[in-house]
Amino acid sequence: MRMSRYFLPVLKEDPAEAAIVSHRLMLRAGMIKQSSAGIYSWLPMGYKVLRKIEDIVHEEQAKAGHMPMLMPTIQSADLWRESGRYDDYGEEMLRIKDRHDRDMLFTPTAEELITDIFRSHVSSYKDLPLTLYQIQWKFRDERRPRFGVMRGREFYMKDGYNFDLTKEDALHAYNRHLVSYLRTYERMGLQAIPMRADSGPIGGDDTHEFLVLAETGESEVFYDSAVTDLTFGDREIDFDDVAQCQSIMEEFTTKYARTDETHDEALFNEVPEERRRTARGIEVGQIFYFGTKYSDAMNAKVQGPDGKPVAVHMGSHGIGVSRLLGAIIEASHDDKGIIWPEGVTPYHVGIVNLKQGDEEADTACESLYKEFTAAGLEPLYDDRKERAGGKFATMDLIGLPWRITVGPRGLKNGVVELTSRKTGESTEMTPAEAVARVKDIYAGA
Ligand code: ATP
Ligand code: MG
Repeated sequence: MRMSRYFLPVLKEDPAEAAIVSHRLMLRAGMIKQSSAGIYSWLPMGYKVLRKIEDIVHEEQAKAGHMPMLMPTIQSADLWRESGRYDDYGEEMLRIKDRHDRDMLFTPTAEELITDIFRSHVSSYKDLPLTLYQIQWKFRDERRPRFGVMRGREFYMKDGYNFDLTKEDALHAYNRHLVSYLRTYERMGLQAIPMRADSGPIGGDDTHEFLVLAETGESEVFYDSAVTDLTFGDREIDFDDVAQCQSIMEEFTTKYARTDETHDEALFNEVPEERRRTARGIEVGQIFYFGTKYSDAMNAKVQGPDGKPVAVHMGSHGIGVSRLLGAIIEASHDDKGIIWPEGVTPYHVGIVNLKQGDEEADTACESLYKEFTAAGLEPLYDDRKERAGGKFATMDLIGLPWRITVGPRGLKNGVVELTSRKTGESTEMTPAEAVARVKDIYAGA
């Protein structure tokens, strides 16, 4: 992409409405624009990161054997009356009437709809286990939409649903989701700690929330500092291996880590004092096992091995895809702007031409641009006739992890400069070396 043709409406001033850094930086970097309270347009740069995050979620779900699909945002109230949640959900549900005066709603979650699909098409235990998911817009009429995409009213969410014959199988699905979520967040450069949680209106027995530690987080959290030493890394995993998923689950959930909703002071005090931490966190996902709550209410049964009908065991599993943009920025920024982790960066490398119009500099930049593109990487080339200082400030604000600076002076010596956004460190090298270095970095990412 060439900056001269890009739609990147960066703001010079800090927007007054933004109370936290991620919201401020997303507005300043021209990623989003509020359309009404808690509802945003995603401008090209924001949309690009949203899609990157979505891609990672899809890739990791595929590895776990879960199937993507798509359900409508507008649903009939009838299914929600069957489960009893039409009345229970309260004011967070956006209720709509169609021209025939029928009650409709904008989906805040989709347990009812997926259960209806399931019961219409699955009748034998032989078709289990089954896990379906979607990434779709949700609407919750939050009392206090705030912090930009962190607490929107319209937001983008991955919601997955497992159907199993037994509780044991459903708990394996639960563990499988926990493991795949750990991988998903790590690929985004985040440490998201599974914490024992409260089930809220979805209802259920077992549930964990994934929290990213950040001062601006809405949840108060209590944990054993040893949990922050755990990383998933690049270990091999077989998602059908019940014992392996179980042992990883235990590794990540046995140490004390809870939100204020489930916090137990007496248990917390058993953690050695020097390891007890109280902090704030951003909830980026949640997994639930809720047994036959919906399958009983909605009569979702299959024929079991003995020929008798049994209600299926279910769980649901969510990732806050749009909230993740905010969470990643909260976890990774400095006073100049965003610092994108390599896994989600909108463009892999920025090219800054210090002297647009200088033949040699222009030619060097064009050839870098072509080489990166040919290598399957996406460069963002600042080809505007602007002062170098302004170009650097924009690159720092939008936060691409790597920048190549090209100017006539360096080119006289055959070199350009490669700069890390994170450390600020710059190294001179030939253009060919810079291309090779950046290709190398992303080959491993
Ligand atoms: P919260 O406690 O933050 O209101 P929740 O527990 O009601 O969230 P879930 O039903 O678990 O939300 O939804 C799955 C994920 O969707 C959450 O973990 C969160 O990351 C995201 N999410 C929920 N509500 C919002 C919102 N209003 N804006 C943006 N993301 C949200
Ligand atoms: Mg939740």
